[in-house]
Parts: sequence; structure tokens; C-alpha cells
Amino acid sequence: MTVSSSTHHRQDDSDYFADFTRRVMAARIPLDGSIELTHRCNLRCVHCYLGDQDAIRKHRHEEMSTKQIMALIDEVVEAGALNFTFSGGDPMVRKDFAELFTYAVKKGLLVTVFCDGVLISDRIIEVFPSGEQAQIRSTLADGIRAVIAQVLFKRVDKKGRCAALEILIATPAVRNLIRE
Ligand code: SF4
Repeated sequence: MTVSSSTHHRQDDSDYFADFTRRVMAARIPLDGSIELTHRCNLRCVHCYLGDQDAIRKHRHEEMSTKQIMALIDEVVEAGALNFTFSGGDPMVRKDFAELFTYAVKKGLLVTVFCDGVLISDRIIEVFPSGEQAQIRSTLADGIRAVIAQVLFKRVDKKGRCAALEILIATPAVRNLIRE
């Protein structure tokens, strides 16, 4: 009985998402948006395809401004997107990262950040004036769903490296830690 009921719900969900996808595609609504905020990064991985970080830093003035990126987020929301990804380089090296992140979250987007993990949390909070930090911690705690870190480890069985994913789910305990 339970199995049959749960199977029924799965079928309902599956029908719903199939119908949802069909409608979204028919209306040509872009559900996902993403932007490479910068090519700068705080690390210098040997496998990085972005190239020489010193050269990249010399061109930082060519990056989009905070206002331009906010306008882009407005356009993405207007177009119907639900998900938005900030990537880089490491998007957190931008001083306005926290501002852009909270802007996108407040616009109702489910935000994903591709970063190397080094600057998470304290770096985001520190860029705000001390009087605003409690509010920013609270916004981040409410907005974050998970932190996924990909690390490359040296193989012990043969030459080369292999990727490992570390996934921190934003449970109530994690959200409380961020708030504190
Ligand atoms: S963390 Fe990513 S962007 Fe940064 S240097 Fe390494 S591969 Fe490149």
C-alpha cells in the first residue's frame, strides 16, 4: 500500500516536471543563468586553463562593474530564470561578491557559486561594515542550500590526480553556525 502510494506520487512529480519542462521550452524561458564574474583567482593550480594570473590581473579593469552585473541579474530574472551561477576564476576575489550574491538571492534566484572554497564565509562577511554583518550572516544563512567543494588529490595507485567532492548541506545547525 505504501509502495503503491509513493509510486503514485513519484509519477505525479514526474508528470508535473515533464509538463513544466515542456511549457518552459515551448515559451523559450531560460531557467538557468550564469556569469564568470572574473578570471582572477587566489590560487594558481597547475591544471588551470585560464592562464597566467599575473596577466589576468592586469586586465581586471575590463571586468563588468557592480551596476552592470546587477542589471544583468535583473534581465535574467525578468526573462524567467530560477537558477543563477557565479563562477570565475574565483568569484569571491571580487570585493563586491557578497553584494552581488545577496542581490541575486533577494531577487528570488537559487544561487550557486563555483569557487575554490578558500574565501568562503568570513571573506564574504568581512567586506560589509561591522554594523551590517549580523544581517548579512542571517541573509547568507537563509540563502545557502549547500557548499560543494571539489578537490584534486594525488593518486597513490598510479600517476595523476583524481577529483573528490566535499558537500556541506545547509542543515539548521550549519545555518546557526553561519549566523553566529
Ligand atoms: S581554483 Fe580554479 S580558477 Fe583558480 S587557479 Fe585553480 S583551476 Fe584556476
